[in-house]
Amino acid sequence: MNAMNIYLACDIEGCCGYTSHEEGCVGTNLYDQFRRQMTLEAGAVCRGVQKAGGQTILVHDVHGNARNIMADLLPRGVELLRKSGGDPYAQLSGVQYGEFDAVMLSGFHSGATSSGSPVSHTFRLNHHHALYLNGQVLSEFLYDAYSAASLGLPIPFISGDREICAVARQIIPDITTVEAVTGFGYGTRSRHPEEVIEEIEAKAEQALNGNWQRCKATLPDELELTIVFQRHQDATYNSFFPDIKQLDDVTLQYKCNDWYEILRMVHFVLSK
Ligand SMILES: [Zn+2]
Repeated sequence: MNAMNIYLACDIEGCCGYTSHEEGCVGTNLYDQFRRQMTLEAGAVCRGVQKAGGQTILVHDVHGNARNIMADLLPRGVELLRKSGGDPYAQLSGVQYGEFDAVMLSGFHSGATSSGSPVSHTFRLNHHHALYLNGQVLSEFLYDAYSAASLGLPIPFISGDREICAVARQIIPDITTVEAVTGFGYGTRSRHPEEVIEEIEAKAEQALNGNWQRCKATLPDELELTIVFQRHQDATYNSFFPDIKQLDDVTLQYKCNDWYEILRMVHFVLSK
């Protein structure tokens, strides 16, 4: 297929070797090493897409304040989106306007409470303890997969930690995955960073040479999102959001059958 327009969301915690939150914080010793690795992994996806004939690639830096990717290390011919917040589509901000044929993800990590990464989390740190969608851990991958599905968009490729790749294959059986790092307990295990980068480039190309239009998640008809906050004050504050129910001191639950209503609720409730 010609003229593929790809939206690529890039995070850092699922990149090769990433092990602790300091490594993704501006001003720490290891930050430069990992922002470079994040950039090279994103760039590898772009090169794979270009080899497969992709025309437009928008690279969205989705980590922290979105000031991580080093633009000069990306291949020419791509654009960089440096934007954090302000849009219910969050990590896929802007994808709703119909410009793109597919979404791809790099550097993704296990969701809050999962043992698949020493830095597993979903959205902000130190705010909520856990998020469950219909009883399943809500990871950033799952959130983006349902956002893409609600717009009819496939996700042909993801790279990240081993567990989020396994989750991705459950939700989208035909997705192509690259396991950049394996997390367990306090630590991680990973291959040489250059080997991971090479595999990402090859698999991103392969993903688009296959039947990538099939790579869509199936949205459940009924949606039930449960939020367990770290502080009871945040649960009380957000309990006034329309149609939200307080289950206990720290837990709120929201039910609906329209994914956009979930996006809207999360946009307001989890940013406070
Ligand atoms: Zn991140």
